[in-house]
Amino acid sequence: MRKVSILGSTGSVGTSALEVIGRFPERFEVVGLAAGAQVERLAAQVRAHRPRVVSVATEEAAAALAGLIPAGERPEILVGDEGAAAVASLGEIDFVLAAIAGSAGMRPTAAAVEAGKKVGLANKESMVLAGEYLMAKVRQTGAPILPVDSEHSAIFQCLAGHHREDVRRLLLTASGGPCRTWDAARIEACTPAEALKHPNWSMGAKITIDSATLMNKGLEVIEARWLFDLPPEQIEIVVHPESVVHSMVEYVDGSVVAQLGTPDMRGPIAYALSWPGPRLPLALPPLDLPSLGTLAFEEPDPVRFPAFRLAYEALRMGGTAPAVASGADEAAVASFLAGRIPLPAISSAIAHALETHRVRPVASVEDAIDASDEGKRLADSWLAGRFGRD
Ligand code: MG
Repeated sequence: MRKVSILGSTGSVGTSALEVIGRFPERFEVVGLAAGAQVERLAAQVRAHRPRVVSVATEEAAAALAGLIPAGERPEILVGDEGAAAVASLGEIDFVLAAIAGSAGMRPTAAAVEAGKKVGLANKESMVLAGEYLMAKVRQTGAPILPVDSEHSAIFQCLAGHHREDVRRLLLTASGGPCRTWDAARIEACTPAEALKHPNWSMGAKITIDSATLMNKGLEVIEARWLFDLPPEQIEIVVHPESVVHSMVEYVDGSVVAQLGTPDMRGPIAYALSWPGPRLPLALPPLDLPSLGTLAFEEPDPVRFPAFRLAYEALRMGGTAPAVASGADEAAVASFLAGRIPLPAISSAIAHALETHRVRPVASVEDAIDASDEGKRLADSWLAGRFGRD
């Protein structure tokens, strides 16, 4: 029986994870859940999975949640970052699914890693903000970080049974997002509703907008750099509109190992949950290659989608630069979703933040969060100067 906590249980990945777990009650027990403010969804999860401890973002949410659950069935209810960190480090759990979106996931994810828990990582921002720090902790505690991001899960699966020193390149696939075939003028006019229509994957809003700009792939390059300990020169992006090949590893003999599957997050979630045990028999629709017919691959276009190049640039700059880029992206995505700025302004804001920022080392989680916050401020003030405040 694997005892688990889920951080971000009411989000897209958290909900899918509980669905997977609910199908295998003999293998998993939910001990802790951390959510934000979606208390009704959390209350339903509490009724279904009976966790011992839950955490929500605010005192108001805690009171609302308590009101939805009869006293006799009520778990311990904690609040805020500290509450989420406590859920991440409960003594009896051995697996934490880190699925809080954005930089808000940094502290709870770090708490799980520092507590020596096996972590299923869906919160890529924590690896972008503080990858070097987190991987040093992993080496200390010996508890692995298992990728839940579909590309990194694919690479992890493609590395299994091979010699690490034989790796020549990682090939991260990208769907290209909803604007893949659009010209610059059409991208400039892209609305939030259009950008939120991902062609293949059902995901949260922030990551879906990141997919439209290709910043998501840039963040994934940074994530892969730390997770797999490879320099950025050995990590490449290949646009693959069907999202069937989830990523590939090229070896020194020219052999390329790929992982394929129907694009569904339950696949990588289940792989991390069950690792290193046998795979979980999921009832996902089987991959029907003959009906797909062909799979397409193309190079990413840095002219229409400059954001992924900025992520490589941030890695080259080192230290706090990736955290600044990530923070700038997060703030700019929020502005785009609020209808204040056009889609291409997101990458312009990231570029501005990287140009303005003076790189410092990241020695702690707080250093990483400070840099991310600085990125947010730099992006917000630059965007306000160009597009006006609300
Ligand atoms: Mg991904």
